[in-house]
Amino acid sequence: MLRRTKIIATLGPSTDDPKMLDKILEAGVDVVRINFSHGTEEEHIDRAERVRNRARAHGRQVGVLADLQGPKIRIEKFKKGKITLEEGDTFILDTACGSKDGDDKRVGLAYKDLPKDVKRGDTLLLDDGRVVFWVNESTETEIKCRVVVGGVLSDRKGINKQGGGLSAPALTDKDRADIKTAAKMDVDYLAVSFVRHAADVEEARTLLRDAGCKGGIVAKIERAECLSVVDEIIDASDVIMIARGDLGVEIGDAALPPVQKKLISSARKRNRIAITATQMMESMITSQLPTRAEVFDVANAVLDGTDAVMLSAETATGDYPDKAIAAMDRICRGAEQQREVTRSDHRIDSTFECIDEAIAMATMYSANHLHVKAIAALTESGSTALWMSRISSGIPIYALTEHVETRRKVTLYRGVYPVSFEPSVKDHAEVNREAVDELLRRGAVRDGDLVILTKGDMMGVLGGTNAMKIVRVGELLNANHNEE
Ligand code: PGA
Ligand code: MN
Repeated sequence: MLRRTKIIATLGPSTDDPKMLDKILEAGVDVVRINFSHGTEEEHIDRAERVRNRARAHGRQVGVLADLQGPKIRIEKFKKGKITLEEGDTFILDTACGSKDGDDKRVGLAYKDLPKDVKRGDTLLLDDGRVVFWVNESTETEIKCRVVVGGVLSDRKGINKQGGGLSAPALTDKDRADIKTAAKMDVDYLAVSFVRHAADVEEARTLLRDAGCKGGIVAKIERAECLSVVDEIIDASDVIMIARGDLGVEIGDAALPPVQKKLISSARKRNRIAITATQMMESMITSQLPTRAEVFDVANAVLDGTDAVMLSAETATGDYPDKAIAAMDRICRGAEQQREVTRSDHRIDSTFECIDEAIAMATMYSANHLHVKAIAALTESGSTALWMSRISSGIPIYALTEHVETRRKVTLYRGVYPVSFEPSVKDHAEVNREAVDELLRRGAVRDGDLVILTKGDMMGVLGGTNAMKIVRVGELLNANHNEE
């Protein structure tokens, strides 16, 4: 059985070794994430190029997702690299302190507006909540804090405000420059960090398009305040990422599980893609096996209906990138066994907006009720395959297209598999036969299997899917042979 849920692996020093790169491709990575929070422009370009070259050598299609750093607020550096704070200590976050001059009493802040964004009584969470400050007073340049939870605080650790509400815009100057790099890399997806509202997503899309790239936009849901406008954010994006690291710090860990479930379900309902991210296999940074809790986390995300599960440090800097992917692969497959769904309430009460969407829905209804072996969607943009994949099903959806951008884009869609397809003729019966031949050649179907084909009367036209045809493999071949 094919795995339906897709696996995203973050590239980094651990995957730079050519042998490891081959191993993660063999382990089944579908999309690689290039994290613009670390590394240089040359490194990013080089990693994308190398992974695409190796994917080609493996006969695989791998998507590339560039992840912008965004306005992650961090403390600056300490003279000694780190300090230890005790509960009850006073400590100052000081925008006037030199960037390497932190000591036991104060540390610098690159984000000069932070003192304006906080007031007495606020709680600041440092290093993902490992150290907690209560704000006593905020002046022009200083935030005077009392340590509520002490611990070690080291250089450049992140700061979040409990409950959210920091004013920093989603796109920094660095992000704007990085979008140009992402366009140069011809990325398939661009992830925008700390999205506040739909306008952030639209702005990123405009910048990416202006730079000449057609990639999809991923909105990272990681700010408390974006949850109240999340439906508009989802509609403005192609994909959402449930960025559980920062989000969990802002809304509290207990609020995360219901939010994850709700976000995945809203994304699917709105015909968008969902990625579940952060700490999914955290222990595998240094261990060859996941914990049982991690096994259940990945499986539960699959059952929630996520399109993709993501690995961060596990593959970027971990000891066992290939084993982390292999573990995700087997856990996803195991969880998918439980989801032999043949009925779906997806859009059951809504009016379809276009003909191609109606065809996609009719196809899935038929496929789930007729025990077809495979669906072959002949598609230009991949949107027919996207609509189909919003309906729960165990039937593989092959996206047959001549466009490499489309083949790379669908690497993220649950249950959708890219197939390079350029019919040699225009005649409809012949095109159908070539499509089925392609599935036969790949071992996706056998003689006697039922297949549903969808396509447009005018192949090559966007949004033109207006037909579905149910064929039995072999009979179609024979019928065509008899005609000859
Ligand atoms: P990051 O985003 O890894 O870029 O911080 C993910 C998260 O916050 O969970
Ligand atoms: Mn984050």
